Amino acid sequence: CNPAVCAPIAEDDKRALVDAVETFIFDCDGVIWKGDSLIEGVPETIAMLRDMGKRLIFVTNNSTKSRAGYLKKFLDLGLEITADEVFSSSFAAAAYLDSIDFPRDKKVYVVGETGILGASSSSHWPPYDRELDGVGIQHLGGESDGDKKVTLASGQLMEHDPDVAAVIVGFDRNVNYYKIQYATLCIRENPGCKFIATNMDAVTHLTDAQEWAGNGSMVGAIKGSTKREPFVVGKPAPFMLDYIANKFGIKKNQICMVGDRLDTDIMFGIDGGLRTLLVLSGVTSETELQSESNSIHPDHYTSKLADLLTVKK
Ligand code: PLP
Ligand code: CA
Repeated sequence: CNPAVCAPIAEDDKRALVDAVETFIFDCDGVIWKGDSLIEGVPETIAMLRDMGKRLIFVTNNSTKSRAGYLKKFLDLGLEITADEVFSSSFAAAAYLDSIDFPRDKKVYVVGETGILGASSSSHWPPYDRELDGVGIQHLGGESDGDKKVTLASGQLMEHDPDVAAVIVGFDRNVNYYKIQYATLCIRENPGCKFIATNMDAVTHLTDAQEWAGNGSMVGAIKGSTKREPFVVGKPAPFMLDYIANKFGIKKNQICMVGDRLDTDIMFGIDGGLRTLLVLSGVTSETELQSESNSIHPDHYTSKLADLLTVKK
């Protein structure tokens, strides 16, 4: 096999890695949990790294929940984390528009679920449950267009709000032709309209039984109809890493990215100049990692996050 990924990380290299880095960025699905189940040994590993004084950050490409939604998920799984430690691609879409001073008299059309809008009445962490609302950006679409149908009578036009100056496309289990046409009109009729993708994951693992069409399919629909390329905020694009590094003032060579997926997590780490650790507790198998056709090589790999527990002094 390729020498870079021939064998799991050795004990000495584990210790050297943990000693060398100040911050761990963990991908969520496949590293911390699988679906709704906690992965074995995660609470103990997180506790150990905290005791060692490491900064821990959790990053997910899944845009269906707001940061508050993820906080609740962590707490429900018995993991104590703080609101400032979690970053989702739903948050990143709002943070990106905020960073470019998106005009507050304009609006965003959303293809996606509640995480992007963030409107939830039951949040324990209101500032983290209002991603677009939280940065004062008006929005339409999302879940409220989930049941809409297009009427195709002769001469019929579909109207759209001319104040829409950005379209965000995130994972949407109620995507329909109305939303695709609305988003297409917004982008096509206003050349300045921003086109933002939360992530481009080709497949996602809604259940263990098979791979499901990921957000790449929803973004692909709008790319196809508009011939425009989206600005991507999720992994492997650098937006979230730059945001995190700036926010906490962390040097990138002091960060280790831990993820289960080569084309998102490990690419994100490699492109960003981070150290990278692949875990096999998610979607990548050892055979896939070591195959001739794979060119994405993490610095190290191991079976699961809890393998780090052996560095405990
Ligand atoms: N997008 C969706 C819709 C998902 O369900 C998932 C995983 O559950 C992801 C993206 C990937 O999430 P992560 O970046 O935490 O692995
Ligand atoms: Ca993952």
